[in-house]
Amino acid sequence: MSEKKFMLSILIILVGIILIMIALDITGVVVSILLLMFIVGVFYLKRKKDEDSSSEEDKEPVLVKCPYCEQLINVESHNLRTFGDEYHWCPVCISCLEKAESVSTYPASYQGKIPIDTNYRIHDVESLYFREKENALDELKLRAINKGCNAVYNVVYSKDHDTEGNYVFSIWRASGKAFIKKET
Ligand SMILES: [Zn+2]
Repeated sequence: MSEKKFMLSILIILVGIILIMIALDITGVVVSILLLMFIVGVFYLKRKKDEDSSSEEDKEPVLVKCPYCEQLINVESHNLRTFGDEYHWCPVCISCLEKAESVSTYPASYQGKIPIDTNYRIHDVESLYFREKENALDELKLRAINKGCNAVYNVVYSKDHDTEGNYVFSIWRASGKAFIKKET
């Protein structure tokens, strides 16, 4: 029980006692009514207290796992964001999103030199399907983060279709090879 509720109970009991004392000087009927009100008040407080303690038990933090770093995040935390679009979305932590922003990508058509650090493994990565190409690319970056990489080369998009009732729409996935960039 909180201190505030405890003080409130004491106050109600005291007021009850004072009222009974005053009432005793008036009539027996008033005493009975006040006594009844006092008893009802005490019962009400007790019930309220029981309800409060049960609702406190329900306040267990709801945790979700960031799919890219496996960190558990409280759903009420400012560290949690959602990623994606109406076709696919998932919870993601802010640190993965921030890291993904600095992931470099090179399309398959890229003709220049790619600074691959050959001391590290190259991972094939593939995004989920999204309505927007940009979301597929962003999710590919998150997958690169998940593999401990900071860049993806040979990025290509593949298109598919899905339906919603009679409505047919395109969906996109991005894939590529995640690597660690050589320090320059
Ligand atoms: Zn994360």
